[in-house]
Amino acid sequence: MIVTIGHLYSDYLNIYADRGNIAVLRARARARGHELDVRAISVRERVPVGEVDLFYIGGGQDREQALVALDLATKAAALGEAVGGGAAFLAVCGGYQLLGRFYRDRAGVELPGIGLLPLHTIAGERRMIGDVLLACDWAGETLAGFENHAGRTYLDEGAEPLGRVLAGFGNDGESGDEGCHAGRVYATYLHGPLLPRNGWFADRLLADALAHATGEEQELEPLADDLEAEAHAVAAERARRRGGRY
Ligand code: GLN
Repeated sequence: MIVTIGHLYSDYLNIYADRGNIAVLRARARARGHELDVRAISVRERVPVGEVDLFYIGGGQDREQALVALDLATKAAALGEAVGGGAAFLAVCGGYQLLGRFYRDRAGVELPGIGLLPLHTIAGERRMIGDVLLACDWAGETLAGFENHAGRTYLDEGAEPLGRVLAGFGNDGESGDEGCHAGRVYATYLHGPLLPRNGWFADRLLADALAHATGEEQELEPLADDLEAEAHAVAAERARRRGGRY
């Protein structure tokens, strides 16, 4: 099966090797006999609604976010339609912030978001940097990664976080929530890149993308994730030891 990935602004939003997440998805898809067709979708480029099974947007500094935010806003309707049609979406850090209503940066400039997720973000004085460990109760799993953001993200009442912070700052350093999860849309501050040390989550995204491509829910046979499990354990230990401290 060919799984189509729509990589938004890979030429602008790609810090902390966020592009590495695509490499993991490709390797794990290939291990199950599937191939990825990765389409770059950047400024002034059309969103091929219905053709993309999984959208991906990485992180970036305020400057890069400002360079793409207005263009992304012109894609809001198409992305909303695509997600409404069952496409999956992974958004990381700066990309996560632009899936909400707005991101107000440290200079007080408000960048429009696409309103796909019920949240908004306001940059604070101190950056929240370090290793993070989350409990994803909806999956009975944990996520380990690295965060570096000035933005404080506030979820609307009733919105579901991606995880509960076990170690680290998370969305705002206070609520104990991290990220946001709505159906097949997953958003997080976790860089690293995220997927090499969280095999179960990569498989979740792949299963959602395959379900969109085939119209049927998918069960992926497990892979021997020894290296991934070790990387996860190391990152989790680091987070427990020093996550969430300025
Ligand atoms: N520029 C945003 C912030 O500082 C996002 C940073 C990022 O993507 N790492 O919060």
